[in-house]
Amino acid sequence: MIGPRIFTSGPMLDGPKPRFPSSIAIATPEGGRRAVDNLKQRGVDFIKLQSLIPRDAALAIAEEAKKQGIAFEGHVPDAVRAGEMSEAGMKSFEHLIGIFEGSSPAEEDFLKGNKTERKFLATYDEARAASLAALLAKNHTWQCPTLVWERGGNLLDVSDFSGDTRVKYVPGPWKNKTWKRFTGEITQGYGTDDIATRKKFIDKELAVVHLLHRAGVPFLAGTDTPAGVHIFPGFSLHEELRRFVAAGFTPPEALQTATLNPARFFGMEEQLGTIEDGKLADLVLLSANPLEDIANTQKIAGVVVNGRYFSHIEIEKMLAGVEAAARRYP
Ligand SMILES: [Zn+2]
Repeated sequence: MIGPRIFTSGPMLDGPKPRFPSSIAIATPEGGRRAVDNLKQRGVDFIKLQSLIPRDAALAIAEEAKKQGIAFEGHVPDAVRAGEMSEAGMKSFEHLIGIFEGSSPAEEDFLKGNKTERKFLATYDEARAASLAALLAKNHTWQCPTLVWERGGNLLDVSDFSGDTRVKYVPGPWKNKTWKRFTGEITQGYGTDDIATRKKFIDKELAVVHLLHRAGVPFLAGTDTPAGVHIFPGFSLHEELRRFVAAGFTPPEALQTATLNPARFFGMEEQLGTIEDGKLADLVLLSANPLEDIANTQKIAGVVVNGRYFSHIEIEKMLAGVEAAARRYP
């Protein structure tokens, strides 16, 4: 099949009662170490952490991963500080988890699970945010903020995607089961955060991304597909680049979050990330300049995948195939 290069973690590590059935349940430090050892032997590219891993187990996983020379990344576990995970060598954080917690004098209370966006906003402290940003920059802790999903997840009760032209590419079980389940869980989790608070929080996230970026923290473009509701593989990546520009990145900096930066992240700068003689040919050919308007990344004239050229017409045919495949799973 024609597709992207995939680097994968294998099963995620989560707490004793994982949120996702495919995860490995971790209850103890020994369990955490065993899981790292087992996944390393199975040849995964990195270890993925989820939110519910107990504190002592998370720190043991960090230690074991370091010992085994394998990267660990994902969610900063709920019971651990972002600063601690950065110091422990966690390679990247998803969804800005731990950043608002660590930018507040109420961090200890947040670690106990008492999180609301209202409280994040009310207790946000510029000096703490700046010192956390300096720490993340020093440790080169990558951030994959999944900004499209952060916005979408916060607006589920006021969004209507029924007329979105991309919905036709989504198979039924995904729309009707996965999205439904997450929408139910997430809207319930809004609790006391009303829509005005959530909108303020979305804007504050952009401001925080800007702060981290200026401090020298490195960034990756990520979409959280297929977990995110109303997230469309491929399409949503372009939206993510627009969010980076909204957060104050220049268009070239936004482009790099999906080109040069991932190549650096995976230590593959020799092969990927820029257009140079001798590198792997994975290219998008655009009909308008993305440095003038980042939205031009969607004016796609053709794509080169591993040296093979696909014209716009061929891409349209492939998309029609995706649509037909989605229809087969109503
Ligand atoms: Zn996640």
